[in-house]
Amino acid sequence: MRLLWRIFIPFFVSTLLALAVTTWYANRSLRRFYQEQVAEELLMKAGLLAGDLESRIMERGGEEVDGHCKEFGRAARTRVTVMLPDGSVMGDSEQAPSNMENHRNRPEFSEALAGRTGKSIRFSDTLRRTMMYLAVPVKKDGTVAAVVRVSLPLSVIDWTLRTWYRNVAFGGLVVAVFFAAVAFCLARRISRPINDIRRTAERLAHGDLRARAALPADKEMQSLARTLNQMAAQLGERMETITRQSDEQKAVFSSMVEGVLAVDGDERIMEMNPAAARLLDADPDRLRGRSIQEAVRNPDMQKFISCALADGGQKEAEIVLYGNEERFLQMRGTALADPAGGKPGVLVVLNDITRVKRLETMRRDFIANVSHELKTPITAIKGCAEILSDKARRDPGEDGRFLAMMARQAERLSAIVEDLLSLSRLEHDAEHKRIQLEPGPVCDVLRRAAQAFTRAADAKKVKVAVDCPGGLSAPINAPLLEQAVGNLIDNAIKFSGEGARVSAGAAQNGGNIEIRVADEGPGIEQKHLARIFERFYRVDQARSRALGGTGLGLAIVKHIALAHGGSVSVESTPGKGSAFTIRIPSQ
Ligand code: ADP
Repeated sequence: MRLLWRIFIPFFVSTLLALAVTTWYANRSLRRFYQEQVAEELLMKAGLLAGDLESRIMERGGEEVDGHCKEFGRAARTRVTVMLPDGSVMGDSEQAPSNMENHRNRPEFSEALAGRTGKSIRFSDTLRRTMMYLAVPVKKDGTVAAVVRVSLPLSVIDWTLRTWYRNVAFGGLVVAVFFAAVAFCLARRISRPINDIRRTAERLAHGDLRARAALPADKEMQSLARTLNQMAAQLGERMETITRQSDEQKAVFSSMVEGVLAVDGDERIMEMNPAAARLLDADPDRLRGRSIQEAVRNPDMQKFISCALADGGQKEAEIVLYGNEERFLQMRGTALADPAGGKPGVLVVLNDITRVKRLETMRRDFIANVSHELKTPITAIKGCAEILSDKARRDPGEDGRFLAMMARQAERLSAIVEDLLSLSRLEHDAEHKRIQLEPGPVCDVLRRAAQAFTRAADAKKVKVAVDCPGGLSAPINAPLLEQAVGNLIDNAIKFSGEGARVSAGAAQNGGNIEIRVADEGPGIEQKHLARIFERFYRVDQARSRALGGTGLGLAIVKHIALAHGGSVSVESTPGKGSAFTIRIPSQ
């Protein structure tokens, strides 16, 4: 039931009850008062008639008494009866005494006979209404000679009170309506602020933390509303802090380069950041709540997490993921306490160390390659030196051949070392940003590079054609770019057959300048294309060595292109030729 009615109904009912009790009490008092009035009047009238009878009429006999009764009754508008001590009626104002029964048994008569005033209220069978009877003794010489009884119907009182009742009913109605209105206003005054506070509390419960209750006029309600508002404000602040902290955590969590995986004590994934999802090639929303066995199909990782959970977290391991490409992950596990007090879980941080691993492999391969490359000429030189120093050798005429071989191998050694130094210088300078780029004409560089290989080209009857429109300019390091183009022209001449054609050209393409060296040599098979810019990578080891190659030429070209902020690429059709393109920004 609504609070309004809970206040209004008891208030209104108790008002009606009070009104009814007051009316009832007033009615009773009034009725008693009127009855007393009537009794007094009757007593007075009975006294008067008794006086009359005592002084003169009694002696005159029955008829006289009856006649006087009728006269007195008319004048006093009251019924009067005179009875003898034996109860027989001597005179009556309304009926003939002979028709009337003996009144000996009437209670008022007995009282009066005893010398007192007798009074009785009862229903008169003769008149068929409630009457008040009052009887007084008529004394003669000290004894009761007769009894005078006067009576009046009590309906007179009802008549008199009827108007009063009407007024009281009207007044009561007015008062009831007035009180109903007052009770309603009061109930509303109490319930309205409570309703307002209730509505505010409901809005707060539904998450609208900006809801505030209006301050009511009453002190108590005001303090209630104020407390609620304070609570709401505090709740709002706390929620804001929690949301902010959670957002911050989420942002940190999401933007971490390392993959983070939170696993609970039952080996279920609680949380996973986008980096971890990327590394495991999974959808974080789909995996949340799944067991690690279901989510991660890598037995090493499953074993790592099981062990980390068993050991209480601290653990480190490296695993390999075999997907589209091989990936190396370093995993570090830390114990993760469950705030709900359950089994502790484990927080696994995943680091993609594929690049590091590759670099490590590259470094190892490079050392192995360098050692191998250096070992061949050194072994040859050592062998020649041993033969030359052997006194027991039969044919000193061969000395010239061994010395020439030693010189060739020494030259090869020097070429390898030269290229290695050149590469390491390039890397070092690029790392420390020491490579100076200045705007300069690209065609001059091309021409100078081609010029440097004129003799080698002539020896093989190869024609090197330079096709470069004047005015092409870009920020370049001229000596380095010349070295790169030279390496490409050198290769083109080296790998082309006698009388072949090599073309070197440059052209503007969008924001880049493209320098292209093409030949009509044997070309390179597709499978080698991706790797020919690696150090010491050769398509044909023996041929390259025989041609005096170090296997570093294209690696140098690639680093020089990178130092210019550009790149190098190759297109080749086996049997038809190859075309190398260096692309550098023109601005
Ligand atoms: P190298 O000193 O052996 O020439 P490079 O790094 O310059 O080393 O070249 C690597 C390999 O790429 C060569 O061994 C060769 O097999 C291949 N190559 C380079 N240029 C050409 C070309 N113009 N035509 C065919 N093969 C080439």
